Amino acid sequence: MFEKSIKAYEKACEVIPGGVDSPVRAFKSVGGTPPFIKKGKGAYLYDIDGNKYLDFVQSWGPLIFGHCNKDIEKAVIKTAKKGLSFGAPTNLETKLAEEIVEMFDNIDKVRFVSSGTEATMSAIRLARGVTGKNDIIKFEGCYHGHSDSLLVQAGSGMATFGAPSSPGVPADLTKHTLLCEYNSVEQLEKCFEQSSDIACIIIEPIAGNMGLVPATNEFLKACRKLCDKHGALLIFDEVMSGFRASLKGASGILDVQADILTFGKVIGAGMPVGAFAASKEIMSHLSPEGKIYQAGTLSGNPVAMAAGLESLRKLKDNPEIYDELSKKAKRLVDGLKKVAYKNGIPLQVNTRGSMFGFFFCEKEPKNFKDVGLCDFKRFAIFHHEMLKKGFYFACSQYEAGFICTEITNKDIDACIKDADTVMKNLK
Ligand SMILES: *Cc1c(COP(=O)(O)O)cnc(C)c1O
Repeated sequence: MFEKSIKAYEKACEVIPGGVDSPVRAFKSVGGTPPFIKKGKGAYLYDIDGNKYLDFVQSWGPLIFGHCNKDIEKAVIKTAKKGLSFGAPTNLETKLAEEIVEMFDNIDKVRFVSSGTEATMSAIRLARGVTGKNDIIKFEGCYHGHSDSLLVQAGSGMATFGAPSSPGVPADLTKHTLLCEYNSVEQLEKCFEQSSDIACIIIEPIAGNMGLVPATNEFLKACRKLCDKHGALLIFDEVMSGFRASLKGASGILDVQADILTFGKVIGAGMPVGAFAASKEIMSHLSPEGKIYQAGTLSGNPVAMAAGLESLRKLKDNPEIYDELSKKAKRLVDGLKKVAYKNGIPLQVNTRGSMFGFFFCEKEPKNFKDVGLCDFKRFAIFHHEMLKKGFYFACSQYEAGFICTEITNKDIDACIKDADTVMKNLK
């Protein structure tokens, strides 16, 4: 059933480390070989062995309209025919920037980059440059891309200053990153006691990289208050939640406003785009207006801008989409929870707009440590069995799932029915 993918994977492994260009794709945490994809259409993925899957990954979030949306496809092809890149300004960048700025009260200007990693890395440099401070606070289990100072893990003993979580990252580069437990106001206060040199807090206001774990309102309010008190900036990393959790991302459903927002994923609709945005005042520090350097040969690439622009306009013109997506996400996880309980399996579920998550554990996870207590073996079996039945879930309990507009209630009900069968054998 996966023969061609197995062969393709072996071949890929000879020329690409681990056979993949981003580690999670290798299926390491669930075992087995990742299906090699031939094409996508609407809510479905098709692999090279001829298997068809209902896609709950959607390229890890970007494809809110599913695969091969006609309007986005048209905009991309039309733009591509005029040239792929110029390294000079185009109106498409201004238009996309206008669409974004118009949506948020707290931002006036946007700079486009080519990935979420670049967006967060640049946002942090901006925060440091503006405040003239060096330390940053990051939370365990939040992912902000793979730049050096963000690849941190808890240091030894009581220290909150991070240690590198990957070889190749000098400790000198992570010593300015303070690591703190998600949703713990107490630890956050301690960080500010430990350092008077804090430039910013960077947070996923709805964490989607340790499964789906939203921050509590109380916690985000504490983030805001402590930043204000100590002259630090608050960065909401909305690379995943932006235009996903709601039209205005997490910012749209929370009381708390950040100073800097970062975007990616949906903003490019499947093309490589990231962005960071803030007030006129903060953004004026950025080169060439100000002194903080940041650049990119392919930044604001016209084809990528065209995809993002078409996608955002469609979302803004049809805001009812979010209601529908969110109902479908709830239908899915409520259904999964019901069949899990029927089969005596504890399952915790959550949704935010079109994002969903589920954990095989007794108690709702509030932070990274809680997520670590889930039953990973059970998840791996569930994942594998569902894949065989034609349902493509993220291949790790640490990843969120996504609903696209092309997924129907019928698709979801079929998924729940098969999940029931799979869970019967999960005990
Ligand atoms: C995906 C993601 C990133 C990194 O984006 P890339 O485009 O993979 O570099 C950063 N932050 C969050 C919250 C993400 O989900």
